[in-house]
Order: sequence, then structure tokens, then C-alpha cells
Amino acid sequence: MLVARPIPYQNVALTDNVCVTVKRLDLVHPHISGNKFFKLQYNLQAAQAQGKTLLISFGGAYSNHIHALAHAAHECGLDSLGIIRGQELADKPLNPTLQDACNLGMQLQFVSREQYRQKHTPEFLNALQQRYPQAYIIPEGGSNLAAVVGCEAILSAYDRQNFDVIVCAVGTGGTVAGIINASEPTQRIVGFAALKSEHLSHTITPWVTQNNWEILSENVFDGYGKFNAVLLDFIHDMQQQNLPLEPIYTAKALYRLRDDLLTGRLSQQQRILFIHTGGLQAMRENLH
Ligand SMILES: *Cc1c(COP(=O)(O)O)cnc(C)c1O
Repeated sequence: MLVARPIPYQNVALTDNVCVTVKRLDLVHPHISGNKFFKLQYNLQAAQAQGKTLLISFGGAYSNHIHALAHAAHECGLDSLGIIRGQELADKPLNPTLQDACNLGMQLQFVSREQYRQKHTPEFLNALQQRYPQAYIIPEGGSNLAAVVGCEAILSAYDRQNFDVIVCAVGTGGTVAGIINASEPTQRIVGFAALKSEHLSHTITPWVTQNNWEILSENVFDGYGKFNAVLLDFIHDMQQQNLPLEPIYTAKALYRLRDDLLTGRLSQQQRILFIHTGGLQAMRENLH
């Protein structure tokens, strides 16, 4: 079982008139960052209950999920295998994300982009399970039903009672699904996707029990992983208020929230809670 630290709240001035409350999930654990802590919690329990000794998952070279998984496996005394997109990376020095994972004992297997695309198919998963019978396999980004249930613990009774709108960044959708399930029907959940995608809502729908939510595709900075000087300035401004953000998920979501407040798409009269999903480990390499 992973042990959570108390999660602090922080108020930041987002526009001249609007202050939002930030729930700092990035501080939930010294190494297992943000939402990934909640996503892994029940998956680790399930793996241990099933007597599995190896965790397998998938990710890109900068994956916060792979990084968190390596730490969690290490902490729980389990082996781990990361299947990483990009065969070409096999011959290159490891970046800090993968170097950490490797130092924690994770075995890394680099596969071509074509192979990586097969990772959801029953054929691929069955072959993997046969090769590693002792493995508990977690999907890319860590999103499965156990992750959704884990993310329901992100919201507290206080959060249900004191906010009208809850905002977070969305990747594979497991985190926002848990938040939706834990929210009051009168609350509105807004997820800012980190990627251009019209499919995310279809992924999320089977996981959720309410319809008080919307997911907005990333059409502002031109898609996943793309950022510009405007976003970097915004990160700098927020850092002045002692709020650290990274450019892939959290900075974009908060920037887009501010945009929606300034344009009136979201009312400035509402009480807004922004869920800081973490991911700061990736900052070590991306912004220099
Ligand atoms: C992984 C990640 C997300 C996306 O979470 P999903 O459950 O995949 O939607 C959001 N923010 C950060 C910082 C992340 O690392």
C-alpha cells in the first residue's frame, strides 16, 4: 500500500478578478507524482492479491506513468517491465525519466512504433501474459477501472461542498473519470485534454456514472507535447506565485482555464477547484 501525504490547497490569482484554488496532488508522495499515485493504488493491491510479482506497462520515453510505476514497484517489492515506444531509443543514452526507472530496477524494452500500436489488442496482450505468467499488465497511462476507482479518492467532502467547477488535465481519461464519479451532480467537471482528440469522451463514458462533465480537445497549442513562448511565460508567471507547472498537462490546462474565464466561456462568479495532477519530474529535461 502506498502512503499518501496530506494534500495542500493553494490559492492563485488567475485573472485580475478570479482566484482559483489549486489542489496540489503533486505533493501527495515524494516520488509517485500526482494523479499517478491514485491510479496505481488499487492496481498494486490487485497485483498483490493475485500473487503477481511483476508489473508491466507501456509508455513514451517521457512517461510520468512509467516513472511512477517504477517507483511504486520498487516500493512494494515487485519487479517491473516498461515497454517503451521507439526502437531507436535502445542505442541512445537514457533520458532522466528512463534512467530513474532503470535505477529503480525497471527492465526496459524498446519497441517500434508499429509494435507499440498493437499494445491494446487481445493477441498482443495474450502473448505477453503467456510469456510472463507472473505479470500484472497495466494499460498505457495506467487507465483501467481500478485506476478510476483509485481516482475517486482525489475529491474530498470539502471539495464536493465548496466548489462549483472542478478542472483538470486529461491524457487517457482515467483521472477525470474518477473525479466525475466522486463529484456532486450539481458540480461541473471540465477536462482539458493534452491531445487533439474527439474520441476521449467515448473512452470515458463507460467509466462514469454521471453526465456533469465535458472534455475539451487541445486545439490551442496544436496538440500533445507542443508548446510555445506564451505557455512558457505563463509557467513563469505562475512560478512567481509559487505554483510549479509542467508544459504538457498542467500548464496548458490552467492556461486554457484562464482563457475560458477571460472570454466568458466560464463564469468568473463560480468557485473553481483546479486539480494539479503533478508530472513535474519531466521538467528536468524538457525545458533546458
Ligand atoms: C498522466 C498525467 C495526466 C493525465 O492523466 P489521465 O488519467 O491519463 O487522463 C495529467 N496530468 C499529468 C501531470 C500527468 O502526468
